[in-house]
Amino acid sequence: MSTNAEILAQWLRDAHAMEEQAESMLKAQASRLENYPELKARIEQHLVETQHQGEKLKGLLDDRGGRSLMKDMGGKVMANMQGLAGSMAADEVVKGASASYAFENFEIAAYRSLIGAAEACGDTQVKTVAEGILKEEQAMASWLEDHLPGIVKTYLQREAAGAEYESKR
Ligand code: MG
Ligand code: FE
Repeated sequence: MSTNAEILAQWLRDAHAMEEQAESMLKAQASRLENYPELKARIEQHLVETQHQGEKLKGLLDDRGGRSLMKDMGGKVMANMQGLAGSMAADEVVKGASASYAFENFEIAAYRSLIGAAEACGDTQVKTVAEGILKEEQAMASWLEDHLPGIVKTYLQREAAGAEYESKR
């Protein structure tokens, strides 16, 4: 059996590992989006937010018994999504944006759980930080939801133009 405080600390470690995975995934994506400036700008904005999220979580962890290097469930889920993003071919922009949308919703679930645990523990500091981060994840998820169809259309237009160019050679 674990105390609620131990469970809360473990979930903070999970969230920190999740944000480290997020950072590497966003960095990899941003480097490959020169033809999609709006998506690139939004991903770069969220990359900065993600780095701050990681720092905030590290601060909370340092106050609550230190950090563990153990890989957690969240990290594994993220690694799988990264694998998906890594295997992207011509439609990598669409697959990457879809993986990001799934990823942001996973983060939303993680912070909703963290908020519940913080409430149960009476830890208002964790609750406040988690609520702030949750808003950033929701904003990113909502942006991706709104822009995914447009990203798909841009991708299809580019493909069609490329195919036409190829056929005239
Ligand atoms: Mg995040
Ligand atoms: Fe996020």
